[in-house]
Amino acid sequence: MSNETDNEQPEVLVENPFHTARFKPLRKGKKPPKLIAVVHQSGCTGCEVCIAGCPVDSIELVPGPNPENPNFQQTVEIDIARCIGCQNCSQDCPWETIMMYQHEDTYNAWANETLKSELYIPESKFASLVETFDLLPKKEESSEEA
Ligand code: SF4
Ligand code: SF4
Repeated sequence: MSNETDNEQPEVLVENPFHTARFKPLRKGKKPPKLIAVVHQSGCTGCEVCIAGCPVDSIELVPGPNPENPNFQQTVEIDIARCIGCQNCSQDCPWETIMMYQHEDTYNAWANETLKSELYIPESKFASLVETFDLLPKKEESSEEA
C-alpha cells in the first residue's frame, strides 16, 4: 500500500502492529467478502454512529490533530482486513460518507479517500514506534563488574 507525499514520492505504508485492532479477532473464512467498506474521511464528522452498528467491531477512531483534545476533528477508518461487507455502516452513516467497494477496488479507494490512518503507517513511523516502545532487542548485560 502506498500514499503520495508532497514531493510525489510514493510512501510505503505498513500495517501498524501496535494498534489495538490487532488484538481483535481476524475475519473468518479464506475468501474476502465481495464488498468492503471505505470511509471518505473528507466528509466524516467523527460522530461515531457507524461504530455502534458494526457487527465485527472493525471501525476504528482516528484522533484529531491536537493530542490534548483528540476528540476534536476526530474521524474514523475501517479495518479493511476485518470488514465483512455487511453494509451496516454505509447505511447508517448520517453523512453518507462510507461507500462499499468491490474487493479488488478497495485498496485504491482507501488510498484516495483516507486522509489519516492509524491502522496503516509510513515505514519511517514504524521505526520510531519501535524506538518509542523500546522494542529493540536488548544487548545482553554483562554480569562481570569492572
Ligand atoms: S461493512 Fe459491516 S463489517 Fe464492514 S465496517 Fe461496515 S459495519 Fe463493519
Ligand atoms: S457515521 Fe459517518 S460521519 Fe459518523 S463517524 Fe461514521 S463515517 Fe464518520
